[in-house]
Amino acid sequence: MEQNSQALAGRHAVVTGGARGIGAAVTRALVAHGANVTMLGRSVAPSVDLAGDPHLHYAQADVCEPESLGKAFGSARSSFGPIHVLVNNAGQGNSAPFLKTDFALWRSMMQVNLDGAFHCIHQVLPAMIGAGWGRIVNIASTAGLAGYSYVTAYCAAKHGVVGLTRSLALEVASKGVTVNAICPGYIRTDMTAEFYDSEKGKEVIARKMLAKRLGKPEELDGAILLLSSDASSFMTGSIITVDGGHMVGSL
Ligand code: NDP
Repeated sequence: MEQNSQALAGRHAVVTGGARGIGAAVTRALVAHGANVTMLGRSVAPSVDLAGDPHLHYAQADVCEPESLGKAFGSARSSFGPIHVLVNNAGQGNSAPFLKTDFALWRSMMQVNLDGAFHCIHQVLPAMIGAGWGRIVNIASTAGLAGYSYVTAYCAAKHGVVGLTRSLALEVASKGVTVNAICPGYIRTDMTAEFYDSEKGKEVIARKMLAKRLGKPEELDGAILLLSSDASSFMTGSIITVDGGHMVGSL
């Protein structure tokens, strides 16, 4: 897609976790291509300055709390009308050896990474089906495709996101609504900076990354724009890795 096309003009996208990290890059890419974007996050105020940008709205909600989500999606609709694109990006990645993973940590990974996507899809899917057009893009992870030690709960949740994507895609394939997932590899953000800057992190990048570097959040833009627009009209249930060759190098 050419830079700053208006391929998403007239579209309203909700990006969960859209004000920081990968989500902020997603927000910028969608706005650059003509969309109005509601960013959703737990913080009371967004970490970006919205003043004067008529294409951005911020709604506070925790994706684990359906009641707060109901209000946030209501506020999104009040600002920009019906929601055409949902990017389920909000997530957390806590690590611990399995025997130190208590049930609270296990449940928290499921709640934010998997249940959160479930709740948000419930907020938008009926209207998308009614309109005969919708794009649901789930940000999973290469941890949704392969095992990684010490992140069992996160991996299990992200595998769940991949399963959710494939199954829901089948259910709504004839309704004009596509459901796809992106599996990023190692991308530098607040979530990952501490690990990547550690000796262990540097060793992992040198050993596992064919590109020998981390990805940048904006390197997901191409996949996001594809899956959010008409360009992906015949794609559903697809799982796209954006990982600098990490997964193929692991085969
Ligand atoms: P960051 O920690 O930088 O950002 C996480 C975002 O999610 C923030 O905007 C945060 O906003 C939001 N968020 C977290 N918990 C909740 C919640 N309960 N309710 C609402 N919003 C929430 O992480 P990344 O940008 O790195 O990660 C974004 C997504 O990409 C995640 O799903 C992650 O699993 C996935 N991913 C990241 C990779 C990486 O290497 N960085 C690799 C593979 C996948 P706030 O704090 O305001 O709530």
